[in-house]
Amino acid sequence: MESIKSDTQLLTVDSRNPDPGIIARAGQIIKEGGLVAFPTETVYGLGGDALNPDSSKKIYAAKGRPSDNPLIVHIAEMEALEPICAQIPEEMRKLAEAFWPGPLTMIVPKTEIVPKETTGGLDTVAIRMPDHAAALALICAAGGYIAAPSANASGRPSPTLAGHVMEDLQGRIEMILDGGEVGIGVESTIVDLTGDIPTILRPGYVTEEMLQRVLGEVQTDPTLMQKVEGGRPKAPGMRYRHYAPKGTLSLVEGEAGEVTARINALISEAAAQGSRTGVLCTEESLGQYRADVVRSLGSREDMCSIALHLYRALREFDTEGVETIYAESFSRDGFGQAVMNRLLKAAGYTIIKA
Ligand code: AMP
Ligand code: MG
Repeated sequence: MESIKSDTQLLTVDSRNPDPGIIARAGQIIKEGGLVAFPTETVYGLGGDALNPDSSKKIYAAKGRPSDNPLIVHIAEMEALEPICAQIPEEMRKLAEAFWPGPLTMIVPKTEIVPKETTGGLDTVAIRMPDHAAALALICAAGGYIAAPSANASGRPSPTLAGHVMEDLQGRIEMILDGGEVGIGVESTIVDLTGDIPTILRPGYVTEEMLQRVLGEVQTDPTLMQKVEGGRPKAPGMRYRHYAPKGTLSLVEGEAGEVTARINALISEAAAQGSRTGVLCTEESLGQYRADVVRSLGSREDMCSIALHLYRALREFDTEGVETIYAESFSRDGFGQAVMNRLLKAAGYTIIKA
């Protein structure tokens, strides 16, 4: 394939105080039409020049991503909005003031200079300003606009460590900047500002309540927490099975003790049939499971820890060759909605009541 590179440079950057020489080299690669994976506060991104259609084509090719699944344009300063937004709604200014730089992506009508290759053929553009010094420096060095989806191969969990990017994209992109583990671990909240009511198309660290505090009325797309049959969801990426481990994942929901008992029973059945088994659980229940691989995401009391460790754990099940995985469920309140949205997708919406 045209986009395959014989080797990928892996360079370490200090995420708070990145080396200007390294950032300049990485920015130059993007300016010249190449691809650089870089850390952000959410997950690692795979960056190319957002205003260069060939760069966006390369991003789709490197990830194996369907080309109608639009990319997010990353900016480093408010002045960057005007050239790419056909309108800057008042809500955008208010939300930017409240949450940028940060894990919030906003969708608005685009101008001509944003190529359709970047927006998956749409007339709208998704924009975010990440809260990460190395990412912001790279955006500036690359000319101000970096199109970046998550830096995973399409269908795999998003990368929270540079090593995950290496696993998926080594040999397919020019450079990876290693800034250590990300801070949040799930992708940004996406809010669509093109309709009458601001609408959350993907939940993230910035919750519906946080957006409502700034804007008043905000709604969440009703298809977010359930399987979409037939109908075309608004965020194109929602059509694809994302975040999937190689094994079969099912969620088990119910009272704590019942969930543990039910998961152990299911694991015994799977093991009896010769399957290699895994459990995704929390500190509180870690000692109670009998499976080949048991992974805790942290304390149930700490949703930030659960979110941060989720994708890494799903990847570890792959590495360990686990075929049947059962996961505990979490509250859907607040940031829990983002965690459950990712888990439900990874599980193909399979929920077992304990
Ligand atoms: P990723 O960068 O991998 O987190 O994926 C970006 C996601 O942003 C896509 O899967 C879409 O769901 C969403 N997105 C980006 N641009 C738009 C847009 N113009 N309209 C609706 N959704 C968008
Ligand atoms: Mg992604």
